[in-house]
Amino acid sequence: MTAMPDPSSQAPGLHDQSEACFRQLFAQSPIASLLVNRDGLVVDFNTSAADLLMIDPAMRSKPDLPGYVTKEQQSDLMDALQVVHQGEPSQTVDLTLNLASGQSLPLRLVIMPVPDDKSLLMVTLFDLQGHARSNKVLSQLAYYDQLTGLPNRLLFNDRLRWAIRDARRRDELMAVMMIDLDHFKNVNDTLGHEAGDELLKIVSGKMLASLRDSDTLSRLSGDEFALLMQHVSDSTAAKTAAERLLETIAESCEIDGRQVRVSGSIGICMYPEDAETADTLLHNADIAMYMAKTAGRNQSAFFNESMREQAARQSEMEDGLRRALEQNNLELFYQPVVDSDRCRIISVEALLRWKPDGGDVVPAGDFFSVAERIGLCSEFSDWALRNACLQMKIWLDQGLLERFEDLTVSVNLSYSQLIDKDLVKSVRRALSLSSLPASYLAVEVTESSLKDENPQIANNLRALRDLGVSLNLDDFSEGFSSLQKISGIPFKILKIDQIMTKVFFNNPSGEALLEALLNLAHILGLEVVAEGIESQETYSWFREHQCDGVQGFYFCRPLPAMEMEMLLELPQLS
Ligand code: C2E
Ligand code: MG
Ligand code: MG
Repeated sequence: MTAMPDPSSQAPGLHDQSEACFRQLFAQSPIASLLVNRDGLVVDFNTSAADLLMIDPAMRSKPDLPGYVTKEQQSDLMDALQVVHQGEPSQTVDLTLNLASGQSLPLRLVIMPVPDDKSLLMVTLFDLQGHARSNKVLSQLAYYDQLTGLPNRLLFNDRLRWAIRDARRRDELMAVMMIDLDHFKNVNDTLGHEAGDELLKIVSGKMLASLRDSDTLSRLSGDEFALLMQHVSDSTAAKTAAERLLETIAESCEIDGRQVRVSGSIGICMYPEDAETADTLLHNADIAMYMAKTAGRNQSAFFNESMREQAARQSEMEDGLRRALEQNNLELFYQPVVDSDRCRIISVEALLRWKPDGGDVVPAGDFFSVAERIGLCSEFSDWALRNACLQMKIWLDQGLLERFEDLTVSVNLSYSQLIDKDLVKSVRRALSLSSLPASYLAVEVTESSLKDENPQIANNLRALRDLGVSLNLDDFSEGFSSLQKISGIPFKILKIDQIMTKVFFNNPSGEALLEALLNLAHILGLEVVAEGIESQETYSWFREHQCDGVQGFYFCRPLPAMEMEMLLELPQLS
């Protein structure tokens, strides 16, 4: 960003020879000086004035002098400006300026005409209380984030307000974006706060480098950034900038010799179409960012009015979920996995359900991303783990499991559990609390949670296997390269994601890929379960292609424990 705006563009009419000299004097003067028009709108200011008024030298839209003073003082100021404009050699006026930081600054203003330019006036500012020196340091502290050096919330809001006035005057579009890093907490949790800080510095530096000089990137708090883009031609330009930012954020960074990768979610609000005030622009961008997160992260979303209602529903859900554990509003449902040959139950998967007071049962797929965002995922999953073990032990004690071969209950693990160094301890505790032998328990780990190759995950999984717990690779959809990556982890079962089952089925090349995947998994010693089986036709295909197990609504929907118990009492499922 430029340190000083080029006054030549703002001071037309000065003679060429004197212009350079005036410009130099003005810029380098130790006396705080402004060039204003007859209405007091600041056309230019020098560095001394920027320090005194605690304004950012890179600010493109300049402040307007009357905006700094009270209504009563405004008329004194305007009178003085008029008088000099009409030919008086100078005017002096004492005023108290109210700075954006909240500080009051008593100043003497000496107003003089600018030689050779009738449209401009020069205002020199004399600090009546000697604040000038300390203000430079103060402005750095008050307006900039100390970690990244980016403008902070206060300066961002200030710039946004000026930018709105500028855009209104010029009839231009602007974009305001909220940028939030995805799963940043995990970086702090696994690598420590210093590494987290380092990551924030690197990512913010990279983002800044990908923007135009006229854009203002600010760190609002933690891993939350805001971007102001002035002079935007249309929303496509904003979208392009957001896409570029997402790519920049997703680049891997080296921290303490390790490659760390994060992604971001961006909400975009356009001025004046979506909002016209600073607060609403930021609020709406925040809502859109929230929606980008809900839609799966690592993406951008434009604000639209319907999002407001959605966001309200989401926040109602957040409140409900925060109370869910203490109010006993969670329950486990169980869905059988059956062997494709004989249709006998080979395992049951425990799936979390939320039962809001007076509402319908909500499946995990509809609330888990929200629970994850508000940091409840680990707690919920731990609850599921303990309760699934207790339930399985009840069935074991009732003798219900005797007629099944090696029947297990499988529990889904969240990413935050997987990277937790205490995971094995929690599983041990769940097993000992329920007295369930480890061989009756399987844990399911989604393929996507293994992407960042965090060594803690592989260590945890190997330790669980050593404990006697079996490992299922859940929601497999990536393809063969990913099979290579997981070869060091002793998975027993690979579960083909239901999306893959649906998209590939009834499409010749898709079916060929599924067939190859089944063969390869078998060569690697993995059993395969196909998820999301909803029809006889799909079931038959998987059975004919030697898929070991099948799971889906075609056989049975997830059931409450009581109904699952009745099913286990039947000799076989058909
Ligand atoms: P998942 O582990 O892959 O579980 C299977 C999901 O597919 C379940 O959704 C199940 O109800 C649904 N499903 C089963 N058969 C069919 C079918 O034939 N058609 C269709 N359309 N859907 C089918 P649910 O219960 O909503 O769970 C969604 C995901 O939430 C789970 O996917 C799992 O990743 C996660 N989850 C559920 N419970 C827990 C939990 O206790 N802890 C953690 N960490 N994650 C959980
Ligand atoms: Mg699962
Ligand atoms: Mg699955």
